[in-house]
Amino acid sequence: MPELYKELVAIKDKLENHYKDMQDMEFTIQDGKLWMLQTRNGKRTGAAALKIAVDMVREGLISKETAVTRVDAGQLDQLLHPTLDPKAKKEKIAAGLPASPGAACGKVVFSATDAEEWVKNGEKVVLVRIETSPEDIGGMHVAEGIMTARGGMTSHAAVVARGMGTPCVSGVEGLVVSYENKNFTVGGVTVNEGYYISLDGSSGQVFLGEVPMVQNAMVGDFGEFMGWVDDIRKLQVWANADTPVDAKVARDFGAQGIGLCRTEHMFFDPNRILHMRAMILAATEEDRRNALAKLLPYQREDFIGIFKAMDGLPVTIRLLDPPLHEFLPHTEAEQAEIAKDLGVSLEAVKTRTAQLHEQNPMLGLRGCRLGITYPEVYEMQAQAIFEAAVEVTKAGGKVLPDIMIPLVGFKKELDMMKAAVEKMAKDVQDKAGIEIPYLIGTMIELPRAALMAEEIAKSAQFFSFGTNDLTQTTLGLSRDDAGPVISLYKAKGIYLKDPFASIDVDGVGQLVRMAANSGKKERPDIQLGVCGEHGGDPASIEFFNSVGLNYVSCSPYRVPIARLAAAQAVVKASK
Ligand code: PEP
Ligand code: MG
Repeated sequence: MPELYKELVAIKDKLENHYKDMQDMEFTIQDGKLWMLQTRNGKRTGAAALKIAVDMVREGLISKETAVTRVDAGQLDQLLHPTLDPKAKKEKIAAGLPASPGAACGKVVFSATDAEEWVKNGEKVVLVRIETSPEDIGGMHVAEGIMTARGGMTSHAAVVARGMGTPCVSGVEGLVVSYENKNFTVGGVTVNEGYYISLDGSSGQVFLGEVPMVQNAMVGDFGEFMGWVDDIRKLQVWANADTPVDAKVARDFGAQGIGLCRTEHMFFDPNRILHMRAMILAATEEDRRNALAKLLPYQREDFIGIFKAMDGLPVTIRLLDPPLHEFLPHTEAEQAEIAKDLGVSLEAVKTRTAQLHEQNPMLGLRGCRLGITYPEVYEMQAQAIFEAAVEVTKAGGKVLPDIMIPLVGFKKELDMMKAAVEKMAKDVQDKAGIEIPYLIGTMIELPRAALMAEEIAKSAQFFSFGTNDLTQTTLGLSRDDAGPVISLYKAKGIYLKDPFASIDVDGVGQLVRMAANSGKKERPDIQLGVCGEHGGDPASIEFFNSVGLNYVSCSPYRVPIARLAAAQAVVKASK
């Protein structure tokens, strides 16, 4: 029916040009006549959305601004999935349909229940089924990848996996799955439950063992698209990173600074936790200083690595924040070990641990209250920061530390800690004869800090909204115990979303807006950012854009998502 075919293609072009979007059309041909039944914008995967958007800009059908709204920021995750390292040696055992793109590697399991069970125990799994059905959904959700013996590109496994962004190879030729023996055989190779396989859902290939992965580079269409995103967005995107490796990953994803380096994460290493515990358990300032002196070189090395990785971009370093009990030895064996190390009795360790016990440690001796109680802790950290900065500068590098004081509610708290940091900064700089540019600021993570922002801005060169704690303290809902309340409240329609994942715009958001405005009123060039988990959430980013913050900071892997969400916020606001 060449004539009808021509007519159908012409209608297809007309509809696509009219709607300026890819169409999902239904038609029928009856008695030699073409009937169009329905048209609507077609559903698509992240990769397809990007390809369609870029093509339509090239065809002059849509603008770059429209293009950036056509890729769901959440879907971008699919494009960032690592791929199998093309250089790695691989043993191909089978091939099927490339049902859902991306690479996956994990231990083979043969039921959805096993998948869920194994993942709960910290394993990564590939779910292998003859075919999948709706009961398998839980296992499909947690699996790294899915392989099925039967089924085409629109089988249950293929459709559901694509929707989830989970790599899938379906309809694998010659694959014989035995649920009873918990193994599969293909091309003469038998693979038992618990063995590793690797899938390439983009090519449909299956390999034996754990094939190394490489991160997808943002090049080609993806790179061009992200270029438009960066031109459009106003918010900078920084990352939360505590190690040089994380800092490097963040920069590769386009981070423009570090918005939160949680220094406490640097103390959990087995070599360090001992000194940290000795510091906490110390009965005298002298003992505490001795333990801190042992931590100083580690801390300095960490900062050198991070400064080098960031190469002159801002690095926001938060001084010690968490409740001390997080570091304490909890089991008797650990307590005995530390007692031996410190040369004190087990009883002495137990007594000190009991003294430090807090009923509600999240609201106890933490944040700047620690620095005020034990000023030598923040002094050591400031010394490590400035000595690292001096060393990197001497070697020809650039540094830009932003020193951040946590959990401030009173200007006086900030002033006391600021004076200690400035004194240390001066001592180190004078000794080295080198000047280091730096800022001192605070987190806004208590309602009182938000209320008193104008006053606090007199002393703070920057505010970073710690929306995790600000949500906890504003809602009066413990971060650690919120789970059941959130489920119930969502079910009852009290919360529309999890307030720890997506900012409560009406309540917590009001405090953020007010504090940002008060801060700017007192100090027009104040630097404003957010470093709570909300910094990587597209809906929250739209809100932070409307407040006029300078940056959002999120985990390194969310940086591209935040970049896109920030551009989409600008386009939405202009409509
Ligand atoms: C916050 O409270 O939002 C924050 C970033 O700090 P933390 O999560 O470490 O308490
Ligand atoms: Mg906090």
